[in-house]
Amino acid sequence: MSSKLRFKVVGEAFAKRPLDVPIPTERPSDFFGKYVFNKQKMYKYLPKKTYDRMCDVMDNGTPLDSALANEIAAGMKKWAMELGVTHVTHWFQPLTDTTAEKHDGFVEHDGKGGMIEEFEGKSLMQQEPDASSFPSGGIRSTFEARGYSAWDPTSPVFVMGDTLMIPTVFISYTGEALDYKTPLLKALNAVDKAATDVCLYFYPNVKRVKANLGWEQEYFLVDEGLFGARPDLLLTGRTLMGHSSAKDQQMDDHYFGSIPERVSAFMKDLEIQALELGIPCKTRHNEVAPNQFELAPIYEECNLAIDHNMLIMGLMKKIARKHGFRCLLHEKPFAGVNGSGKHNNWSLITDTGVLLHSPGKTPIDNLRFVTFIVESLMAVHKHNGLLKASIMSATNAHRLGANEAPPAIVSSFLGKQLSDLLNHLEATEEDELINLSGKHGMKLDIPSIPEIMVDNTDRNRTSPFAFTGNRFEFRAVGAGANCASAMIALNTAMAEALVNFKKRVDALIEKGENKDTAILKILRNDIKACKNIRFDGNGYSNEWEIEAAKRGLDVEKSCPIIFDRYLDPESIEMFETMNVMTEMELKARNEIKWETYTKTIQIEARIFGDMAINHIIPIATRYQSSLTDNVHKLREIFGEEAMELSDENIKLIREISMRTKNITSKVQKMVDARKIANRIECQRERAIAYHDTVAPYLEDIRYDIDKLEMVIDDEIWPLPKYRELLFIR
Ligand code: ADP
Ligand code: MG
Repeated sequence: MSSKLRFKVVGEAFAKRPLDVPIPTERPSDFFGKYVFNKQKMYKYLPKKTYDRMCDVMDNGTPLDSALANEIAAGMKKWAMELGVTHVTHWFQPLTDTTAEKHDGFVEHDGKGGMIEEFEGKSLMQQEPDASSFPSGGIRSTFEARGYSAWDPTSPVFVMGDTLMIPTVFISYTGEALDYKTPLLKALNAVDKAATDVCLYFYPNVKRVKANLGWEQEYFLVDEGLFGARPDLLLTGRTLMGHSSAKDQQMDDHYFGSIPERVSAFMKDLEIQALELGIPCKTRHNEVAPNQFELAPIYEECNLAIDHNMLIMGLMKKIARKHGFRCLLHEKPFAGVNGSGKHNNWSLITDTGVLLHSPGKTPIDNLRFVTFIVESLMAVHKHNGLLKASIMSATNAHRLGANEAPPAIVSSFLGKQLSDLLNHLEATEEDELINLSGKHGMKLDIPSIPEIMVDNTDRNRTSPFAFTGNRFEFRAVGAGANCASAMIALNTAMAEALVNFKKRVDALIEKGENKDTAILKILRNDIKACKNIRFDGNGYSNEWEIEAAKRGLDVEKSCPIIFDRYLDPESIEMFETMNVMTEMELKARNEIKWETYTKTIQIEARIFGDMAINHIIPIATRYQSSLTDNVHKLREIFGEEAMELSDENIKLIREISMRTKNITSKVQKMVDARKIANRIECQRERAIAYHDTVAPYLEDIRYDIDKLEMVIDDEIWPLPKYRELLFIR
């Protein structure tokens, strides 16, 4: 594509964009949740008794029977039909990082030759989508293609366009999870139980503990016309080649800068639609890289927050196109500038409203605070390799350890105040920490924690698991990933840590130890035990990598090998005893992870080969010919004298020859490496072969292509360049 054509394409996309989005006359508080069958709608559309029972299902997890489901379906249908809905679908999250749906019309024969709209409890509760084309890791061979989707009543039903969307789990005929939601709900249940039990040491009234998640979604917007002219972006979501722009993020002028008008219109449109779907959007801003932005809602219960994140990723893509953009959720669309992540702000909260990672005002509150902090650290300490595996993917691998996002080592930043506090507890005997003779009875010598800490904790952008005042921020999650993967691992690890904690405290109490002394004893022990993951320094530095290895942290960088952590004995034991996943499910999931890894690199390598051979080489040769032509002509006119005049051109001709030769021969070698890898039967071994022998060619060949981009006439360069992709907005 010539630069003139590129310009035309951009112009067309600009012309297509809506100039502005009309501001609704209603306020967000009026249209928030307009398309959600929330409690307010339930109250209106369900009989009072049904409403009460449904609340019990949602709030306390009581089971749902078919009679109740029928009553709920009737109310739901009435509400949906008033919104013009004609179809219904179960909406689920297969192991592909996207969502899936299969729409059925409400219509049924009425038995009199006509049609009626029907929607019964059984279609609400269960569907049987053909599961054969979803990844199952071999749990279910395709001839036993049946899979069930079953309603998750803890996440509300909503309407998109003409369709009633029902959030569901997706399981195989024999009961194994084929999705993210099933193990997520089990992990949340495990952490609920374990945390509630521990809370009872401090607060006798606690009945439930919920996990919270506040995700911050980063993304890029690229002009749709330019996007379409890049086969790599179109098919892999990232640029496989492209020289860095003379100016990119070095001036730090994009972060928190004023939002460009066209982007602002997109954001407004997105937020309105998200709010209507009950997603509590709150924050929006420019991110570090040019054309990179962030969106964050107010945190919610973890399961709901994940559904909302899945929903908004779909919305972002759809609405971006309306504005002449494409939304990139790939973790590393452009080399040389920051990639995109999805910070997962995670905390636990009791049904009595106590944020368990938040310091309190009383000694008891503070002992609870220290307990939940230390046991979170214990979870990360024991499973740091697994947590890394939970966020690892072929696409996120570009980000981790690439000196921008968190490094490929999971450690935790606590900040000075909290570190001092833990150091103090570690250095002081339990007896000295408790003063039982005080005037007010028991007194704990835990230094009081100033309230300002919640808002003012020091920040460390390089830490993958940072304490931020009343929560931990797991920063290594990929922008395009389903957060459930990270949340399953984290919440299960936390549940296990809390169960172990309680077991040990109870054993001491049984031996006659005072409860607080017992708790402090175990905490002191754990503070020492998990010290290796506490790191407040620069996570990007080489010294840290060396130091972390010495401390015994997982420093593996190869994505397919990192997946092995799921099958470590302590991981299997954790998932099984916490009743989240079985060994068989874990194995099946790993097969899918390795296969997905291989396919991602395979597709990239194919497209890369195509582009190198049929986009770059022909243009390079054409330009080279025009240079040789020029040299010839100079010689015709100037004879001997031309030797000097064509010096530079001859150098260029040589450089182009050298680079095109490099490219052609390495592309061939990459194809050969692929062929060898493809013959490997074992998914794990094949993924490792792709990682070790195919993927490196992508970087290697790219080097020569990017150099060619710098010397070849801009007029004929066939691909939109970084400066266009990153600065046209
Ligand atoms: P940052 O300054 O880290 O970029 P943002 O305002 O972009 O912060 O996002 C912070 C996210 O953390 C929001 O989704 C917010 O609702 C969420 N959050 C705040 N407090 C908690 C908490 N206790 N538990 C979980 N998430 C929280
Ligand atoms: Mg933020």
